[in-house]
This record gives sequence, C-alpha cells and structure tokens, in this order.
Amino acid sequence: MIIVMGTSATEEQIQAMVDKVEGAGLEAVLLRGEKRNVIAAIGDKREVHTDGWLAAPGVDRVIPILSPYKLASREASPGATPVRLDGGVVGQNKVQVIAGPCAVEGLDQTLDIAEAVKAAGAVGLRGGAYKPRTSPHSFQGLEEEGLKILHEVGRHVGLAIVTEVLAVDQVDLVARYADVLQVGARNMQNFVLLKALGKLDKPVLLKRGISATVDELLLAAEYVLKGGNSQVILCCRGIRTFEDHTRFTLSLGAVAYLKQVTHLPVIVDPSHAAGQRSLVPPLAKAAVAAGADGLLVEVHPEPDKALVDGHQTLTCEQFSQLMGELRTVAEAVGRTM
Ligand code: PEP
Ligand code: MN
Repeated sequence: MIIVMGTSATEEQIQAMVDKVEGAGLEAVLLRGEKRNVIAAIGDKREVHTDGWLAAPGVDRVIPILSPYKLASREASPGATPVRLDGGVVGQNKVQVIAGPCAVEGLDQTLDIAEAVKAAGAVGLRGGAYKPRTSPHSFQGLEEEGLKILHEVGRHVGLAIVTEVLAVDQVDLVARYADVLQVGARNMQNFVLLKALGKLDKPVLLKRGISATVDELLLAAEYVLKGGNSQVILCCRGIRTFEDHTRFTLSLGAVAYLKQVTHLPVIVDPSHAAGQRSLVPPLAKAAVAAGADGLLVEVHPEPDKALVDGHQTLTCEQFSQLMGELRTVAEAVGRTM
C-alpha cells in the first residue's frame, strides 16, 4: 500500500500514519518528495486492514501497489526521482554523461582524462580503483591510492566521482572519496552490500547483472531504497545472450520499459555492452533516443595502452565528437545535453 499524504499534511499527521501502518504489522517507509510525502506500507501480509486510513487527517490517497518492487515503482512515486550530483541532476530533462577510464592508472592519466571529459560536457568522472576482474591474475586496481587520485582530480576539475565498491567492508572507505558508489554487474545481487548502501547518504549507481531480468534489477534497487537511501541510478550495460559480435547485448527495450515502470533514473553503459570502440557511439546515440537519462562511457587518452578494457574505450577526441553528435539526438527526442 502507498499512503499519499496531502501537500499540507503536518509532521504530526505523517507520524500518526506511520504509527497506524506499524500498528497493522507492516513496515512504514517514509519517502520524502519535493512536493508531498508518501508512506509505503510494506509487508508479506496478504490481507491488511486499512479501514480508516483514507479518512485519517492529512491523507490524500491510499493506493494498493501491485508490482513486486514497491518502492522503485512509479505507483509509489509517479514523478521522476532526480538524483543530484555536484554540477548536475540525473533523471531530469538534461541527459547527463559520466566518463573516464575503466581503471585509474595514475594521477597524470586521470587528470588528462578528467579535463578532456569536463571540456566535452561530462558531469561525472568514472574510474575503477577496485576492479572486479574475471581473472585473479589481471590488474586489480590501485585501491585506496586510486580513490585518493579520483577525489583530488574530481575536486580540482569539478566533476562528481563515480567509482565501484566491491564489498561491504569497503563501503566506508569508498564513500569517503566518492560522490557516487557504483555496484558492478557481478555484484547486483550482493544483497548484504545493497543493504549497507541503503544506509548511506550518497547516490548508488546500480548496474544490471549480466544474466539478471529487469524485475531482478528493480528488486536489487529495492534493497537500497528500503534501507532509506532514495538516490539510486539504474544502469543498463548489456546482458549475456547467444550473440557474440558484441561483448554483451544491449537491451534498449529494457531502457524504455524501465522508464515506464520506475521513477528512478536510468542510464546506459554502451562501452561494456559494445566491447569494441567503433560500436560505442552508435549504441550511445541509440540509448539516448530510447529515453536514457544519461550515459557511462569509457575514455582514455591512449586506449590501446589502457590497463583495462582499452578495446572498448574511446579516445578523448572521439568522446568529444560523440558528445556533439549526442546533442542532436537528445534534441530530436525533446531532451537537452
Ligand atoms: C566497469 O564499469 O568498469 C565495470 C566493471 O562494469 P560492469 O560491472 O558493468 O562489468
Ligand atoms: Mn571496464
């Protein structure tokens, strides 16, 4: 159930409703909106006695939620939820781009990339300090040193830092340096990690697992939302199919569908989906045309020398050119960049 409080509902009326919901044996999650507050009444119970809820002071509407993802659904919150980054908002009309290397390799490399992507119009700098590698023999990231580099460069250039957290015991450390904590595809259903991120007051960028359904992605987001953190950005990065000409298959249907069913911002990572540089620009443009709120793009000054994912990484010049082309696509679908 969702209890939509009226625009003039007082704090006492909201608290009284929270008490009523809890009194009925349900959990009350208060979702504070810019215009009005909503209480999600959550529980496994099939039959809930909601008598008197609608007539309670300050209540505007009481709506049953049918979808399994109660907090992420548009039923819970019909308007889009904007996620604020320093320098921009994800989930409003402007398409926002986060770009940077797959892995942080050093200060000079990170600074060069940051300046290039900032000049091209990016709002965030991505870069892995902790890398989830398929092989334990591959470069695992610069770890805390990488976080320090990201933080310093982000502040210097004026970009929000987006970086991956691999495990619960890294959450505090990564949150100290990052503006947005990324949960990678391989960790989408690490429920303990999601619960820990739910307690944070920082945005979470949640990537779709390589074999996860859209409902599973939304239920993963639900873990973060249920903890009280409403700042979740969903990211489609391709799923595994029988197709082997791209590294993964980018489902643009999922992007369009997600925009219909959830109020959370949806962005697309064309780099990991494509797996090769030449396919990144067309996938990026298609994603914006399909309604994505933003993009996560891998960029490096010398991709062929990059320590990780060079083959799918754009040069700074290619990124800048892509940003220009994206502007035309964004305008064609009624968005800005
Ligand atoms: C990444 O963004 O560098 C990354 C490892 O992505 P994914 O989790 O989508 O594979
Ligand atoms: Mn990568």
